[in-house]
Amino acid sequence: MKFRSFVRYTGLLIAAAGAAAFADGGPTVEQYVASTNGTAYIVPTGELRINGYRMRCGTRATVIDDNLDDYGAAYPGFIILNTKLLLRLPQPVMLWIYSHECGHQFRGPDEETADCFGVQRGRREGWLNEQGLNDVCNFIAAAKGDNMHFAGPHRCEAMRRCFADPAVH
Ligand SMILES: [Zn+2]
Repeated sequence: MKFRSFVRYTGLLIAAAGAAAFADGGPTVEQYVASTNGTAYIVPTGELRINGYRMRCGTRATVIDDNLDDYGAAYPGFIILNTKLLLRLPQPVMLWIYSHECGHQFRGPDEETADCFGVQRGRREGWLNEQGLNDVCNFIAAAKGDNMHFAGPHRCEAMRRCFADPAVH
């Protein structure tokens, strides 16, 4: 069973169809994992390490699903990571992706807000500096943009502003 009928927050690069109305909810974490025929698994809250780096997002669980059609995604209440894709990226980009998805948990479906949440969290926690931000920008540069995402260069510009902004978004 696929959750096409449910609404997923859009991922980093690929927009899920009809992803605007996140308030419609989605599967529970258990339903999601069951839908993958045992290929995905849950990492309980507080136990997630990304390339050795401990990350958390409030009380949200993480699902590792290496068949996900993007680097990361989120439904209200949990975050999904494709570690097969993620672990090829520079460390700051991996952590930013998780934090972008975490941003959706606290700030809702807006992509630019989730981007901003991710870089500000990196700044605050000390894992994102100017060089790391360049890595994030290089990563996102390939994104073409669609109805949910601005093109990469625009997202990068907004993130640089946000990174330099002392006010928390
Ligand atoms: Zn997103």
